[in-house]
Amino acid sequence: MRYLILSDIHANLTALEVALAAIEGRWDRAVCLGDIVGYGPDPNEVIDKVRKLVVACIRGNHDKASCGLDSAEDFNPAAKRAALWTREQLRPENLTYLQNLPQGPMEVDGISLMHGAWQDEDEYVFSPAQALDGLLGAPTAVSFFGHTHFQGGFSFVDNTLEVISLRPAAGNSLAALQIHPKTRYLLNPGSIGQPRDGDPRAAFAVADLEHGVVEFWRVPYDIEAVQLRMTEAGLPEPLVMRLSYGR
Ligand code: ZN
Repeated sequence: MRYLILSDIHANLTALEVALAAIEGRWDRAVCLGDIVGYGPDPNEVIDKVRKLVVACIRGNHDKASCGLDSAEDFNPAAKRAALWTREQLRPENLTYLQNLPQGPMEVDGISLMHGAWQDEDEYVFSPAQALDGLLGAPTAVSFFGHTHFQGGFSFVDNTLEVISLRPAAGNSLAALQIHPKTRYLLNPGSIGQPRDGDPRAAFAVADLEHGVVEFWRVPYDIEAVQLRMTEAGLPEPLVMRLSYGR
């Protein structure tokens, strides 16, 4: 079974559609690690697509803020404005969908899914020290997380924790990670709709654990088209600009 791992789509329909076109026929079941909305200009369109696409989706902090489960008090001003704008746009059934998204971690077919850290859905996992709880605590050898918008992750075997900074180089669509038995993995597919690891291309992953491979994907999309819709919607300028840089 090949799992398409989507995360942090952030209401960017153009990036999602390009990613799905690039990966067509190469996956069997899709899952989402949260932050379907927030920041981007297409919340209803993206929720509609995700609802049809995935077998499982957990909630992210922007999903909670955009559907009123969270006040967004701890968001920066631009992120808060985008969350409030999203709330105004949501059709009633999509608001209900976000409100009912389950909290991670969740296990699907031997893979653990979480939005942030293993112990706290809102906590960021950037460093090896922050990754340790998830690597040791998850019931599965392979786990996926999102929230940081950084593609890559961590491995742990024989008391050694390593950072995995495997990403497709410019001009390449994918980089494959060999999964070793007895090694534990905490992997981030990267963000579809707002990458922050310095590469503006849409990021996602495909996990085929029967064959011991996780593919990290990167695909270019029409960033300017998304930026135009964001500007027309009156979304904050810094959010528009950062898509160009992938920061
Ligand atoms: Zn996010």
